[in-house]
Amino acid sequence: MEERLRIKLIVDRNAVKRHIFLPSNIEVWTVVGDECDYLVNENPLFCTCKDFYYLCLIKKRKRMCYHLKALSLAKRKGKYTTYYFNDEELNLFIKSILSSLK
Ligand SMILES: [Zn+2]
Repeated sequence: MEERLRIKLIVDRNAVKRHIFLPSNIEVWTVVGDECDYLVNENPLFCTCKDFYYLCLIKKRKRMCYHLKALSLAKRKGKYTTYYFNDEELNLFIKSILSSLK
């Protein structure tokens, strides 16, 4: 699938999610992928998908994977869902996303 269309589909189906942990206000963003969820971050740029690792970090062929482009588009359009958690849940939250990576 063409990358632009793929990015648009992610944003349109509200697959970009903002998780706010309180009271610290730590913000964690995820993108729901086909097989698993990815942790994404804008500053510094980071995504837990394989594309980001190989194409952006190792081969330096591009700056962002399509998850990061979707994150940026979703923020621009204000099209994402926000969820609130307690700080105590942060560790488990990150762990569960990392352990389900495909
Ligand atoms: Zn990615």
